[in-house]
This record gives sequence, C-alpha cells and structure tokens, in this order.
Amino acid sequence: MFDFDKIDDDGTELPFLNYDTPKYIFELPDANEILRDKCIDRARELFGNDVPVQIMDRLLRELQAITVNGYASYYLIAADIVKYSLDKGYPVSNRGTLSSSLVTYLCGISQINPMPAYYYCLYCHHFEFVNKKDDDVRTCVYELHDKKCPDCNRIMEKDGIDVLSEINMGVNYDKEPTFNINFAPQIRSQIVDYIKIKYSKEQILRAGTEVEQSDGTYKRGVHPGGIYIVPGGTDISSVTTLRKWEAEDDFKLWITDDDYRELDDIFKRYNILTQVELDELHDLRKVTGFNFEVLPTVDNEILEVFLDTSNNFMKRFPKKVKELIDSVELTSITDLARIDGLLYGSGNWPCTEIKEHTLKEIITCRDDVMQYLLNKGIIHYAYRIMRSVSFGKGLTDEMVDLMKSADIPEWYIDSCNRKRYLYPWSQLMEYALTNWRLAYYYLHYPEEYNALQEGYEERRHRRELLHKMLTSNTEKVIDELRRV
Ligand SMILES: [Zn+2]
Repeated sequence: MFDFDKIDDDGTELPFLNYDTPKYIFELPDANEILRDKCIDRARELFGNDVPVQIMDRLLRELQAITVNGYASYYLIAADIVKYSLDKGYPVSNRGTLSSSLVTYLCGISQINPMPAYYYCLYCHHFEFVNKKDDDVRTCVYELHDKKCPDCNRIMEKDGIDVLSEINMGVNYDKEPTFNINFAPQIRSQIVDYIKIKYSKEQILRAGTEVEQSDGTYKRGVHPGGIYIVPGGTDISSVTTLRKWEAEDDFKLWITDDDYRELDDIFKRYNILTQVELDELHDLRKVTGFNFEVLPTVDNEILEVFLDTSNNFMKRFPKKVKELIDSVELTSITDLARIDGLLYGSGNWPCTEIKEHTLKEIITCRDDVMQYLLNKGIIHYAYRIMRSVSFGKGLTDEMVDLMKSADIPEWYIDSCNRKRYLYPWSQLMEYALTNWRLAYYYLHYPEEYNALQEGYEERRHRRELLHKMLTSNTEKVIDELRRV
C-alpha cells in the first residue's frame, strides 16, 4: 500500500527544474492542496484505499512538477470548465498532449487514462500491468479482452492507453502545459459566459493574432479559442492595448491587439475550441437515451462499420481514410487512431512503409517514436529524437549513428527523416473514441443517426470556413461563409 504521509513532502522530494510561469497568472487559494486532494480522491474511487504504488508514484511525480511550477490553479480552472460542460450533458475532448497526463485524467479534464494498460481486481486489489507482445511499442486497453483475477477468479477492471508523462511534461518535467479543450459548438458560448460569471472579479480577454497577408502587410485577427484569465487589478495597458469584438464573434470579450505568441510569457492561455462531433454525441445520447460512455471498446460489430468503407457512416471521412482502411488490417479502435495519425499528421505520404510493415510497426504519432526508441534501449536521447522527428526537424548525424548502433533498421530511420508533423497518441485516441461512439449509434440507432446528419454536415463546413475567417480575415472566406 502507498504511504500517504509521503505526500506531505510536496515539492521537496524530487528535483524538478523550475521554469518561468507567466507573469500574470490567476491563482486560486490553496490550489496545490485542492488539486492533490481531488486527484487522490478520484484514485481512491477507482482503486479503493489501497491505490497501487505504480499509480501513486506517477501521480506524485506529475503533481510535484505542476505545483512546484505554480500551475495547480491552471489545472483546477480547466477541470471546473470541463465539469460545467459534462454536467450539462455535453462531452469534451482534448487536443494536444494534455491527455497524456494522469493528473488531467484524475481531476476530470480528460477521459483518457494514460497509464500503461493494466488489469485491476476491485475485490482483492490484485494489480498487474499487461506485458508487451513481441515488438509492440505500447500496450493499450482497447486491445485487451476481459481477464479473470488470478487470486479470486473474478473479472478484473482494465484501463490505460500507455502514454509517458514526458510526452506532455517534458523530459525534466519542465514543459509548460497548455490546455486545448474541445467543447460541443452548441455549448461553447455558454462556457464562455460561465467563465465570465465565475471569474467576474478577474479580467477575461480574448487572444488576438496578427496574420501576414499575401502583400506582406499584417492584419489583426483572433485566436480560434484562446482566452486569458488575468488577475483583477493587473494593469493590462502596460502590456497590450485592447480592441472590441466584432458582431459575429460569440465570445464578446475584449481582444488583445498583440499577437498571442507575444503574450504567452505574460498571460496564461486556455484554448476553448470546438468539435462538431461532440454536438452529435450529445444529441444522439439525448434522442436515443443510450449513454455512449458504457459501450464496449472491443467489438467486432462496430469495427465492421469502419471496414465497410462504402456505407453512409464512412461519408464523414476523407477518401484517404477509406483507401488506408482498404489497404491495412484493421483490428481495433487503436488502428483507427493510427490511421488518423497518418492522415492528419504531415510528411506521411507516400506511405511506402505500409506495403511491407504493419500499422503497429510504422510511425503514426509522437509516442510511437519515443516508445520504440526506449524499447531499443535508447534512453537518454529518446525524448530529443521524438521532438525532432515530430516537428519535422529530422535526425542529426549523431542521432542516426546512435540509432544504427541500436540496430534500428534503415527504413525506420528514413521514415523519421520524412516526418513533418506528428500528433500525440492521446489526442488520436480521444478522436478515435469519439468516432467509435458515433459508429455505435450508426449501427444500433440508424434512424436517429441519419435524421440528425444533415445539420451537422452543414455545421462542419461552416466551422471550417469560420475558422479560416477568424484566423485569416480574407474577403474570399467571408464571401464563402455568406453562401452557406
Ligand atoms: Zn481478485
């Protein structure tokens, strides 16, 4: 059992590098204690009082990095906003690496458990990690079947998509967090209103952008969802000037004249974004009365929906997805995440590796690179190589030599050099899970599913145009927007 007294040593036990917290960050009283209690309470709900040591170790490492660097309030506010949406019946998903964090999971911001896949017995508290098979880069709950407890013979709980904390927090736990949270478009303006009311004593601003036009001049726009909660009493005029919102802007917040990239060292940004699919899930749950949170994640019938690429459901995906599904062996929800990684990342085409290697073997996301290198015994350079590959910087000669000396094949090294942008595994899993849930409704509630589709297609198109307009402000997009 974990020694809970150890927690009182908060911030002193492990030497995390401090980094510069933005100058004006809004802080809640007793945030460190509240965040810690929230996470531990949830862990006890899941595991009982004997939280497995492996879980507690990771939780405490993450908590220390967050609290030492002054980000507990940032997490708590995000958790508060997410809870507001969930309480209203609107699901939420995360973009970026935040779902790689155990704290994010336990305080309710993310629905993804980042631990390596594990089985846990609620009755006798037997806990075991799942062993990796052959050359698997990771273990994942969505590829696991039920298993009986070796001690008491009851069916065990299972969870975990296997994401390293370092993907989110950096190798020294010194990477700054940024919340990119997707809300259902139907509720976003309510979310913004909630923030305004709840934090009315503070100053809430919308992040502005400066976008270079084709003639080399700059035009001011707004970030698609970036807002700042600035402590009340801060002299904002000493940092940036503000301008008023335009009529079509549903945030109705004063906008910073300076570009958000210049303000990120000064204010802390929350990205309150939207994803139309979350509207769909909300509406389908409401209309059918079936709660998507309880549906099976290993299910051949749902998989069949994705395999039949000519059906109505698959219309929502670009042609490339269908081509990929036709050319690979699709065995689980995790393969859907890998396909998304190939499709939305960049530097993946032509995907020649797929002819000779399986989806599991090739690089589809950031975590693939890092976990593969760790498996091959490259420990110290794994993070650095992963970052370099993920952001299109390729490999240095030193990195190539290191990889060759670890017997990493030539095709893998070539592939690393071709990548231009890779998504994190946790985000891909969040999106795959959303599509999986929608496929369930398509399969079991086709009438309700089809009846709702028309409105969403139009909204998806409108969202793309609105996004372009807000970020570029070009006349052409405004014209297009008027037509839909
Ligand atoms: Zn048991």
